Amino acid sequence: MTVSMIDPDECWTAVLGRDRAFDGRFVTGVLSTGIYCRPSCAARHPRRENVRFFADGAAARGAGLRPCKRCLPDDVSRDERAVLAAIAAIRAAEQPLALAALAAETGYSPTHFQRVFTRHTGLSPAAYARALMAERAAQALTEERRVTDAVYAAGYSGPSRFYAANEGRLGMTPSAWANGGRGVTIRWAVVPTTLGDMLVAATDKGVCRLSFGEGRAALEARFPNAELVAGGAEFARLLDEVIRAVEAPGDFAHIPLDVKGTAFQEAVWRELRRIPAGETRSYAELAAAAGNPGAVRAAGSANGANNVAVLIPCHRVIRSDGSLGGYAYGLEVKRALLQREGALDDDLL
Ligand SMILES: [Zn+2]
Repeated sequence: MTVSMIDPDECWTAVLGRDRAFDGRFVTGVLSTGIYCRPSCAARHPRRENVRFFADGAAARGAGLRPCKRCLPDDVSRDERAVLAAIAAIRAAEQPLALAALAAETGYSPTHFQRVFTRHTGLSPAAYARALMAERAAQALTEERRVTDAVYAAGYSGPSRFYAANEGRLGMTPSAWANGGRGVTIRWAVVPTTLGDMLVAATDKGVCRLSFGEGRAALEARFPNAELVAGGAEFARLLDEVIRAVEAPGDFAHIPLDVKGTAFQEAVWRELRRIPAGETRSYAELAAAAGNPGAVRAAGSANGANNVAVLIPCHRVIRSDGSLGGYAYGLEVKRALLQREGALDDDLL
């Protein structure tokens, strides 16, 4: 596989942002220490004047540098390049691609390729393709507002398959979240959406985590004792529902959640679920609705402690002066969510 060298300024921006999307596209050589790193290496950033960029590890070794022991640039880049290439092929394909064909592109055996792909995305290549199809259907729904067009545009064979997903259970089903999820099996996946890569994780009771820009490591840190399992058929159906809810927000009260907080936090989360799409509340209004008008700051923290973005719509809370306030995944995501719900006047942007 060949790598075309990208612009040094672009490389340096990626390094400063520890942008994992650039891993495998170049390595960062540090002349003062004699090592080279992936762009996303967690080590302290070197000074710009000591840095040279190389297309890959071989080029860096040719210049006398050694691989970093912390980010292991050689071990991961081949896998990540294979996964990125496969994702690009899946996205570009009109028809579902056979696993053997995808694997052949990368030079891995089909079994090994399937394992590598699943470790990076939480989904098998086939499940990833299905998630992508669901995301495109949802996007087409928002864009076209015509269900049958959206169904066929997304490549489903017909409306009945499109609606075949589970009805799901109502409301929140708290389970024991003490001990970091010990004894709990959590299924998870990272899927592409118009808001960026979305992590969705669920127990057998419902969605326990929805976030953006996170992967398996973040999930492990949050539920260190849970058993994390990638994908699964029933999970895939729930995932389809979630993708559609995120791309065309509105009615997602039927999607089951599995969250646990203090009594006040849960009251706040319940009230958040009651804010209709297209409307917003202030933190003071949220505190009052949750039964404690004096607890404005606590309502703000409960809002921030929300584990399930979008489905518990904490993005619908803004400052009383009308400014957006904060958001865990950045104001661009918050603004995009409110905009597609019709909650923002254009002149307020
Ligand atoms: Zn490193």
